[in-house]
Amino acid sequence: MPAALCLPATAAAATSRVLLIYSNGRLLPASIEVDRGVRQVLGAPTDRTIAVHDEFLDAPLFSGPAHADRFARYLVDKYEDKAPDVIVAIGPEALAFLIGRDRGLFPQAQVVHLGVEPSSLRSLGPLPPRFAGATVSHDFVRTAEQALRWHPKAKRLLIVTGASARDREWEARLRDESRRFEGRVGVEFLSGLPTRDVLARLRGLGTNDLVYTPGYFQDGDGVIAVPVGTARAMAAASTAPVYAPYYLGTGVVGGYMHDYESVGRNAAQTARKLIEGAAPAALAASAAEPVGLQLDWRQLQRWKIDADSVPADAVVRFRERTFFEENKLAVVMTFVIITVQFASIAWLLAERRRRQSAELAVAQQRHELTQVSRRAMTAELMGAIAHEINQPLSAILSNADAAELGLKAGPVSPELLSEIMADIHHDAIRASEVVKSLRSLYARGTVQGEPVDLNAMLAKVESFLRVECKRRGVSVEVVGSAEAVVVVVGRIETQQVLINLVLNAMDAVDGQPDDRRQVKVTLQTQGGTAVVVVSDRGPGIAPEHLPRLFEPFFTTKANGMGLGLSISRRMIEAYEGTLSAANGREGGAVFRIVLPLMPGSDHAPAQPG
Ligand code: ADP
Repeated sequence: MPAALCLPATAAAATSRVLLIYSNGRLLPASIEVDRGVRQVLGAPTDRTIAVHDEFLDAPLFSGPAHADRFARYLVDKYEDKAPDVIVAIGPEALAFLIGRDRGLFPQAQVVHLGVEPSSLRSLGPLPPRFAGATVSHDFVRTAEQALRWHPKAKRLLIVTGASARDREWEARLRDESRRFEGRVGVEFLSGLPTRDVLARLRGLGTNDLVYTPGYFQDGDGVIAVPVGTARAMAAASTAPVYAPYYLGTGVVGGYMHDYESVGRNAAQTARKLIEGAAPAALAASAAEPVGLQLDWRQLQRWKIDADSVPADAVVRFRERTFFEENKLAVVMTFVIITVQFASIAWLLAERRRRQSAELAVAQQRHELTQVSRRAMTAELMGAIAHEINQPLSAILSNADAAELGLKAGPVSPELLSEIMADIHHDAIRASEVVKSLRSLYARGTVQGEPVDLNAMLAKVESFLRVECKRRGVSVEVVGSAEAVVVVVGRIETQQVLINLVLNAMDAVDGQPDDRRQVKVTLQTQGGTAVVVVSDRGPGIAPEHLPRLFEPFFTTKANGMGLGLSISRRMIEAYEGTLSAANGREGGAVFRIVLPLMPGSDHAPAQPG
């Protein structure tokens, strides 16, 4: 199987190894960012497999030549079968370690360095030929210049450095560079102090102070620290703004600094070129990485630094999104909902106003209608009074005529005369009662009823109409109930209704042959009601007239007023009764009054128990 045998050999040949040696610990922010940048480049797919390994010198926790020797032996042992093609030295300690073992450690490997200051590089002497890289240079001067522009009242610049060798390098460099600020601001160094003393000093600063610190690896008590941790503690304690060459996000305002991710990327690109065969001599031995102003937005707010004064090319991180940015959707939705709500409220208000004006219009119409119907009612009342009074007046007139005729014919017996006078008197009283009761009916709408025995009332009606019947040659038969039928009604009004119905019936049979000139009034009880039926043998009611019969002013008579039935129905309904009209089976009209029996009267339905 030659192909299968060939495969691992080909794969092994294609694998290149890059060993990253960090000066400090694994968790240093710069270490993490460099690592990210390196892997972005070396992890990108290519026809060659690149294995990346990391090792940490852990300075300053571990330092000195013995540690360096142990570390070198460890690497040789560990990578015996996996010798790196390229070593990336991250920071000055790692670079110094490799220079010290030039040719002794992985002599075939090319070395790329990063994160080393030019001054540190110079102090390491000339680089061996297999070394290449780019320096970093934290721009203290530009950072301090920018800080002084933002804090023009500052009178003192405190620079905090530590006690380790690397810290002392920083201090020397900063002392040198800070000289240019003499005369503009008092520069004070807090170098190699115990951390608690440093923090105590920073807690007492005022509005005229500024702080700059690269952090430190070791304090005055010899305590080893992580620079980012010291920077964080200082920024938290300080009552004046703290500027730094790194550590954005720990509470420092910012400064001119490197983007270590991009530094890592650049170094990895150099490593890749070397793997692909480029000669180290072709690569610049020590190019400089660019620096840029990086700022923490929250600190700009805290120290009231005007956003307009931030240079356009500055990178501002940790910008807190405004409430609107944070809750854009919710804010937009809320706005939409509120708008819709406002629109609905406006619409409802408009509707309410429209409804109110509509109601006003309706009320106005109702008022006008009431006025009209009041006028109609008045006319109706006047007609009704005339109509109702006409009957007793006619009776009075016929009685007076009878008396006159009797007197003209010869002597009239005093008994007959007093009978006629009594009738006249009676009719006159009835006329006046009609007026009174009609007035009360229209005035109050309802009338107080009284218990009335309908048998007795029908007998009375019969006696009232006896003369009229004789005059017209009509027979009126009244068939009462065997027992008393008591209803609660207005006596005069109900009597008037009965008289009306009988007079109408008499009108109806007027032109009929003698055998049909008959009117019948019956009284019965039926399921808790009293039923009075007035029927005649006249022509009946034309079907087209039936629905209009009870309308005021509906009449088919030449001298009729058309008010009798409408007033009669109104009267009966005032006592919770009904008045209806129909045609009888044998011809003629049938008018039916139904009234509730007085509760507890003899004919009221028997109560259970
Ligand atoms: P009026 O008697 O002045 O016409 P009513 O209101 O009493 O007014 O009667 C209205 C109409 O009802 C009468 O004009 C008549 O056409 C009809 N009507 C009333 N009673 C009878 C009846 N018994 N038979 C036939 N039509 C009747």
